[in-house]
Amino acid sequence: MAADRWNALNDVPDFPPHRLGPLADRLARILKTRNDILLFQTEAVVALEAVATSIARPGLTALNIVTSPFGAWFGDWLRRGGADVVTLSAEPARPIGIESVEAAFDAHPDVKAVILCHAESANGVLNPLAEIAAAARARGIVTIVDAVASVGGHALDVDALGIDIAVIGPQKSLAGPAGVSALSVGRAAWALVSAAGGRRSSTLSLLDRRDWLDSG
Ligand SMILES: *Cc1c(COP(=O)(O)O)cnc(C)c1O
Repeated sequence: MAADRWNALNDVPDFPPHRLGPLADRLARILKTRNDILLFQTEAVVALEAVATSIARPGLTALNIVTSPFGAWFGDWLRRGGADVVTLSAEPARPIGIESVEAAFDAHPDVKAVILCHAESANGVLNPLAEIAAAARARGIVTIVDAVASVGGHALDVDALGIDIAVIGPQKSLAGPAGVSALSVGRAAWALVSAAGGRRSSTLSLLDRRDWLDSG
């Protein structure tokens, strides 16, 4: 083909399969976690939808902290899967206060998971992640964090904070390419995902992805 017609994007070489493990290990080091790392060859909003799809089911109650449209979508995906969603919205362009999160936990003792965005790219909000994660951990609640915009820009110590699922993308603070993403999943999160009624046979199924992980 004439050199001026050739487009490198049409012929990107395959990422070598033997590099996927080391890549996951490096991401785990960035996140400071020993949890499993799942890679998504698609944009981060799909990884977020996969998390919502994989935990949602009738009988699950989740507290969804909304500080931007991403949080609102997460709530929609949970409801689509039959979950009960308690929505806690912050004032526009303000972080959520830890007192209102604790009040919501107290008012809804059946909450099993809390979802929040660490830092918002659209409005600059930084939510009090450490405090919320500590309050959730004290109550045995699984903490799910959209860290797409914050990873690389704010400290994100997944294991020290007890974050059960962290979703990240490379194209914000890490200045990497768009269109790929990853997430870390810890033991308590896997228990929630593998409880009866979980989504299977779907590209959004974390259970399916764990099978691929287990098969090496
Ligand atoms: C950009 C962003 C996303 C979505 O990432 P995409 O890779 O564009 O799908 C999700 N959450 C937050 C906070 C973001 O800033």
